[in-house]
Amino acid sequence: MQAFEVFDGELRVGGVPLRLLAERVGQTPFFAYDRQLVTRRVELARSALPEGVSLTYAVKANPMPALLAHLAGLVDGMDVASAGELKAALDAGCAPAQICFAGPGKRAQELTQAVAAGALLHVESAREVSVLSEVSARLGVPARVALRINPDFDMRSAGMRMGGGAQVFGVDLEQAPTVLRQIQAAGLHFEGFHVYAATQVLQADWLIQSWHHMADMLLKLTDELPGPVQAVNLGGGWGIPYFAADKPLELARFPDELGAVLARLRQAWPGVGMVQELGRFLVGPTGMYVTRVQDRKVSRGQTFLVVDGGMHHQLAATGNLGQIIRRPYPMAIAHRMGQAPAEPVTVAGPLCTPLDCLGTGVPLPPAEVGDLLVVFQSGAYGASASPQGFLSHPACIEVLV
Ligand SMILES: *Cc1c(COP(=O)(O)O)cnc(C)c1O
Repeated sequence: MQAFEVFDGELRVGGVPLRLLAERVGQTPFFAYDRQLVTRRVELARSALPEGVSLTYAVKANPMPALLAHLAGLVDGMDVASAGELKAALDAGCAPAQICFAGPGKRAQELTQAVAAGALLHVESAREVSVLSEVSARLGVPARVALRINPDFDMRSAGMRMGGGAQVFGVDLEQAPTVLRQIQAAGLHFEGFHVYAATQVLQADWLIQSWHHMADMLLKLTDELPGPVQAVNLGGGWGIPYFAADKPLELARFPDELGAVLARLRQAWPGVGMVQELGRFLVGPTGMYVTRVQDRKVSRGQTFLVVDGGMHHQLAATGNLGQIIRRPYPMAIAHRMGQAPAEPVTVAGPLCTPLDCLGTGVPLPPAEVGDLLVVFQSGAYGASASPQGFLSHPACIEVLV
């Protein structure tokens, strides 16, 4: 499951042996992202998209500036969910017109900044339309909007559902005609729709079915449109394997199925394009969290490795970012790649709370104090999704190699 280069039994990031990289960074713990792997993940995602479907990056997954600058040259646009992310995407060189701004409860100030920048706003409520109407009049620039729809279908068994039933996200399908009329009356520049159903989905069938359902649903709005539909963003949700039993998402059928969905949309809405917005799929496997073993102790027969990094930097890997079942992320001892596991160990962080545990029963080769222990699948929802201030340990460092 880990994609990094191994040479002579030692992990490398961007061609640099990890031991040297740690010296170069000057401290542990840190996050290391591999530039070349990012490029390859984008290529992999593109290989699953037919003509007419563009690829955007969800900045929420990892907003590190150097990473964004690298991605800006590779993807077709960026999805942001705050004024801070909007600034990060603009600074990284993403074309303003290729930025989409989604998220509930956007403040008037944020909406104003996005209109001034020329970004596309994914409208999530009638109130946002009212605010955008005022902002557009004041700036003399009509806001570009797409309506985010909360679907009328509810698909079970996805990683984390963000659509269907009662949701804070988007406008219920039933309310869409009213909001579309409001968009028209306000003279906003209508460009299309956004639907986002779930995240971390590993079953290709689930995603394929959801795209077809979304198209059925959106086509029902054909008579209510305030203008031509230019693009339909059917979300993303492509998952990555975190645990031993997870299988990578199977992409083989995506080009044909996305092509079929696009063809149906184009029959009703000629020339329409589609968007897939991906976060963790593009960057999750390209990053590792590098820690150093500080202590090794045995308590009543159980071996503990205590490392210098933990939940304050990599909350998700400790199972505290909304997971229902705690299972360890894949881990390794950096210079013992390919060696057989010794006894199963518990890997704990330095924070004075039992929540700071990276895994129990982790199969690792023998490790000693001073060794580098890495946590894979750490390129998304790591540093920016963790409570860095908790327990007042040093701030987190990130490098793109
Ligand atoms: C969080 C989010 C994403 C990215 O999700 P991943 O699981 O990282 O791919 C994309 N779009 C929207 C609207 C989101 O809220």
